Amino acid sequence: MHTMNRRQVLAGLLAAGTTLAGCGQKSESQTQASAPGAGPEAGGGTSQDPVLTALQAAHEAEHALQLSLLNYAEAAASDHPDFALLFQAAARSCEVRISALGNLIGERGGTLPEEPQVPAASTLSENLARAVDEAKDLAENLYPDFRETAVEAKDTDAITLISYGVQVWPDAIAIFGDAADALNAGDSPSGPYYVCPTCGHLTTVLDFDECPYCYTTAREFETIE
Ligand SMILES: [Zn+2]
Repeated sequence: MHTMNRRQVLAGLLAAGTTLAGCGQKSESQTQASAPGAGPEAGGGTSQDPVLTALQAAHEAEHALQLSLLNYAEAAASDHPDFALLFQAAARSCEVRISALGNLIGERGGTLPEEPQVPAASTLSENLARAVDEAKDLAENLYPDFRETAVEAKDTDAITLISYGVQVWPDAIAIFGDAADALNAGDSPSGPYYVCPTCGHLTTVLDFDECPYCYTTAREFETIE
């Protein structure tokens, strides 16, 4: 039951990625209906390692959120620079994981997903709400599924990397929530922000010696200001 659900999620993500790639010409084998029990190997062309598929799906999801955050930052740049800085810091957090995921995908001979297309930015309050929703989807739905795949395969490198997504996003979501409260109160969030160069942990307070998730030393954190 769990396996089937996860496969459907992954198949759906990959199919969506193929569709979003738009101008690509190689789509028909990917759009097979995910018939229960048939499994991804039935359609031909998708019978690759499920962990690699999960890494690619994580890469695509993080990349989509990063591009959205950069859009939100650009939209806020002139009137709300303090919010723009937060979006930029969160986008940098995504970028750290995108880079690490890309390296692991490359080491395993996988291809990187096409650049995802994302909707245009809206109002600042709507953009903040979207950032929270999109990050929650990653932290609570997608990454736990990906991690289950890696755990089943006892794939230590993938477990470590995918776990960062589960661990790091809740802190960023809390920071977005505080920023939304500040906006409602007619206030602004206050940086600077610090980003772990290994896992992308996003924080406003460097009150630790080592990253709580990956043990990178605090002095190696990047300052976004
Ligand atoms: Zn870290």
